[in-house]
Amino acid sequence: MSLLDRLQAFTQQHATTDADSMAPLGAVIEHLYSATEGSIKGRRTILVGTNNYLGLTFDNQCINANHQATRTYGTGTTGSRLANGSYAGHQELEKELAAFYGVNHSIVFSTGYTANLGMISALVGKGDTIMLDEHCHASIYDGCKLSGADIIHFRHNNAADLDKRLNRLGDKASSALVIVEGIYSMLGDRGNLKDIVDVKQKYDALLLVDEAHSLGVLGESGRGLSQESGVEQHVDFITGTFSKSLAGIGGFCVSQHPELEVIRYTSRPYIFTASPSPGTIASTRTALGIISNNPSLREQLWDNANRLYNGLKSMSYELSPEVSPVIAVNVGERDDALSMWKKLFDRGIYVNLVMPPATPNRKCLLRCSVSAAHTHAQLDVVLDAFASFQSSELKEQLA
Ligand code: PMP
Repeated sequence: MSLLDRLQAFTQQHATTDADSMAPLGAVIEHLYSATEGSIKGRRTILVGTNNYLGLTFDNQCINANHQATRTYGTGTTGSRLANGSYAGHQELEKELAAFYGVNHSIVFSTGYTANLGMISALVGKGDTIMLDEHCHASIYDGCKLSGADIIHFRHNNAADLDKRLNRLGDKASSALVIVEGIYSMLGDRGNLKDIVDVKQKYDALLLVDEAHSLGVLGESGRGLSQESGVEQHVDFITGTFSKSLAGIGGFCVSQHPELEVIRYTSRPYIFTASPSPGTIASTRTALGIISNNPSLREQLWDNANRLYNGLKSMSYELSPEVSPVIAVNVGERDDALSMWKKLFDRGIYVNLVMPPATPNRKCLLRCSVSAAHTHAQLDVVLDAFASFQSSELKEQLA
């Protein structure tokens, strides 16, 4: 099969998913009315798949900061920090991130994806070992591949399995890198961080936690699962993204280890890509300040998460294991998933359709992500739609 034939085969498969040109895997949002509502195919649609956890994309302070920085510094940096130099804002944001996490070191990357690629590939190499929770995000898998290290998966959230596998490494266990997430991106469950930390301590391994979905969401001051679990001092590296609670684009790593600084000179995904634009940096700095000073946003988010999760649970849908702003509804087979996704879409609701191989355990999921900016009325529209499936022919399909 030629390279182009291979792409043709994929095109045909995609065409069946994309039936009626509804584009579940890439809808075009023609207009945005707010953080939670847009227009898709001319229809006013409630957005329930944005990861916009705190709803800050339309926050006035963030928008003003972005405008002002764009006017002052221009639209882009047009290159990497090592080649073109850093802007003052990059360094200020790094200081503010370090202060927010109570550590001394921080690096800003261009995306959360490159933060994981850049950190993992700079920390380990050929001959080293990575211990990876099997539910980790694709960016972590890709970082592991780029590093050339040996990759060992342990069972999801299973500290005993991690222990067993580290034990098998013998002397090499102390130079292993363990990687887990705060809130797992697909099923929305928390990492079992306290137990994972106990195991990493036992073997003196290093621990990296990706808090992409938990920054601003968990912990007394929004620092994520490491803070909520009271184990921050034992986490060696925290990576995260600006594209969810911080409502921008970019990524970062923070650490108490001074060695983080040298990674700027060794990490290819840091060196060989353009740095975040001044506007993005400015809005992210403002959003970080808002997260630090407004616990009420987090309370609003959890109130909404509880409302949607408990509502769906009461209808007996099979959900993610715990209440979380990421609520994955397991809808069985691919055709059922597509059909339900389309019915939701027809009712003006956009959720993420997630199919294997992107899902754990090859499940087909309607993944909802809740925002502090959702109104109860919007969430009730979503609940009504899911309730209606239970009284239609889909109820039989789901049984
Ligand atoms: N880590 C996790 C757990 C994620 O879910 C994502 C994105 N969904 C990323 C990293 C990458 O973040 P970004 O969108 O900033 O590249």
